[in-house]
Amino acid sequence: MPFVTLNNGVKMPQEGFGVFQVTDLEQCKQAVKDALNLGYRLLDTASSYQNEEAVGAAIKESGVPRQELFLTTKAYMQEMGYEKTKEAFDRSCKKLGTDYLDLYLIHMPLADYYGAWRAMTELYQAGRIRAIGVCNFLPDRLVDLCFNTDIVPAVNQLELHPFYQRADELALLKEYGVQPEAWAPFAEGMNGMFTNPVLSAIAEAHGKTTAQVILRWNVQRGVVIIPKSVHKERMQQNLAIWDFALTDAEMQQIASLDLGRPQMLDTRNVKEVRRVYDYLNNPVVTSL
Ligand code: NAP
Repeated sequence: MPFVTLNNGVKMPQEGFGVFQVTDLEQCKQAVKDALNLGYRLLDTASSYQNEEAVGAAIKESGVPRQELFLTTKAYMQEMGYEKTKEAFDRSCKKLGTDYLDLYLIHMPLADYYGAWRAMTELYQAGRIRAIGVCNFLPDRLVDLCFNTDIVPAVNQLELHPFYQRADELALLKEYGVQPEAWAPFAEGMNGMFTNPVLSAIAEAHGKTTAQVILRWNVQRGVVIIPKSVHKERMQQNLAIWDFALTDAEMQQIASLDLGRPQMLDTRNVKEVRRVYDYLNNPVVTSL
């Protein structure tokens, strides 16, 4: 598994496993155990996913040494602010069964994220977090944060897939030394991504699946990917992307699929801001 080097020298696997919407905690535990067994070492959860305990239980039962893992979680809007973020960090660590995080992320550019960033900076300097970063920060928010901190975010986790490619933003992240990480690398299959004719033809030419081409395209752009699946054979398939390469012409063909706008989340849209704030009021989690 290739690694990328973050702006503070920490090495991060270029591919990991995401657990958003795996709300049945037994299923989440089993999926994470399967993923670890298959060789995934980066795990991506969030307090808002309400499955950190299942991720922690899976890590414990897997027997994989903690230091081999790259464990990411995120603080949600209700956890923004200096004091609240410190408490949220302790709560997440307890649920995950760890005393440090590899990556702690601000989940949304909303609420008091400057207070949160101060708390995260202190935890980072105290050695409790190996790298700190953000999610869903559009260029103006990211640059503003960079002007107001001694610690530039190590990562910006963004919606990044063939239908929303954000080439200009990737160039800006490179300029600031921030590692892009793709959430929803398949756009959860929206807009027929898995049967798209351009992607399917490229897949056929390589004897690979469309899913593998989608992931390979993003890693060839230098992006970290965290696909989610609860199916073992798909987890395995999603890992088998390191033995082939897309040509420049194929990368160009995929570039032509860009729709140039978010397909999943637009934090500038008032309806969606209301939706993300409401997310925690509608839990569908089943117990462990
Ligand atoms: P995704 O990875 O784009 O898509 C997951 C969907 O694709 C699932 O329905 C899965 O089905 C299916 N799938 C997976 N591998 C496949 C394959 N090889 N062939 C066909 N179908 C396949 O969506 P996501 O879970 O939303 O995003 C990935 C991770 O990013 C999340 O789990 C989470 O950790 C993170 N995330 C972060 C944010 C943020 O705001 N920071 C937002 C969203 C997500 P099955 O499970 O049924 O196999």
